Amino acid sequence: MGAPDLISIDEARQRVLAAVRPLPADEVELPSALGRVLAADAVADRDLPPFDASAMDGFAVPSGDAGSLRIEAESRAGAPAMTPLIPGTACRISTGAVVPAGTHAVVPVERTEERDGEVVVPAIEAGANVRRAGEDVRAGETVLSASLEIGPAELAVLASLGLASVACARRPRLAVLATGDELVEPGEDLGPGQIRNSNAYGVAAQAARSGAEVVERGHVADDADATHAALSAALDAADVVCVTGGVSVGRHDHVKPALAALGVEERFWGVRLQPGKPTWFGSRDGTLVFGLPGNPVSAMVTFHLFARPAVRALQGADPGIRAAHARAGDPLRRNPKRDQMVRVRLEQDGDGWVARPTKAQMSHVLTSMLGADALARIPAGDGDIAAGERIDIELL
Ligand code: AMP
Ligand code: MG
Repeated sequence: MGAPDLISIDEARQRVLAAVRPLPADEVELPSALGRVLAADAVADRDLPPFDASAMDGFAVPSGDAGSLRIEAESRAGAPAMTPLIPGTACRISTGAVVPAGTHAVVPVERTEERDGEVVVPAIEAGANVRRAGEDVRAGETVLSASLEIGPAELAVLASLGLASVACARRPRLAVLATGDELVEPGEDLGPGQIRNSNAYGVAAQAARSGAEVVERGHVADDADATHAALSAALDAADVVCVTGGVSVGRHDHVKPALAALGVEERFWGVRLQPGKPTWFGSRDGTLVFGLPGNPVSAMVTFHLFARPAVRALQGADPGIRAAHARAGDPLRRNPKRDQMVRVRLEQDGDGWVARPTKAQMSHVLTSMLGADALARIPAGDGDIAAGERIDIELL
């Protein structure tokens, strides 16, 4: 078992996405659809607003002329006036109420004077303070397309279209399995040489944020049989398995042989990336398996780079890579052989975003993830990126 041949970050991502088989959809009631991905287009069955409506509290008037008009009727939100406006009269109207037929404009109440059943109105231009039917959405329009992630605005629009439920791709079931004899769970005492299992929590949280349903968060010792058994169970339970640690070439790294024995086909091992070089990826039928490095920063960075796009793609969404540019706030040392993903905080100056490393970038410095807004992608090469140089970033 030698050192792996490294592939680029982009090649690794392509291989991940090529292995994705989108999941089927189920019908989801609207309040539960937040964060889910639409499986079908949402089409308007009518205009929105459905009728010409007043934008103000005031009076619907039949012409643009100033004068005194008899108040004949009232149109309230949800209780339209039944008769058309006739010349010489006005209709008291509230915001959101149907404007009666024959309305020239709505005069806001602040610009009127009322006495003895009459209202004095100023001259007003045609259509003033009237919201037109269909101004927001036209009947037959595709308002939201399949593959969109449903956020608060999408949820509100779906409600306005009258949909009580929508078809959404099933959430991918995701199992996290941390390997390592040295690991203990939070809440337990640390013995000699032990550390806390942080990956199972960080990666599971990233998975949940990406739209997965975390079905398992396990921990297995560095033992060949136990690793095989735990991975076998995870493969049966999940659409995506994220195993952390044990994917290097150490004597106690049992993950790769166990996956091979379980029929998981390797699609890559080793990425030209720091942190995250020993990342492994494979699949068995539709089930995706990520062997993430054990170092806590590497595990989280590689989840973000490779597993998150897969979780989204399984739901039919785009990979969700939010690429942008910033300027380096400090000089950055390049790695001669591997692209680096530097955890940066973004600040704004007069010229746009300035990216500064959160703190020391070693892959065991988990607190370097705190306050990170983005990963700055520093291409492999010699020398430094100078302060002020334009760099590529991916927003976290
Ligand atoms: P490995 O990839 O198993 O060789 O682990 C690499 C490094 O990451 C070692 O220092 C491990 O102790 C550490 N590590 C592995 N798994 C975890 C975990 N679940 N939580 C925190 N640190 C871990
Ligand atoms: Mg280990």
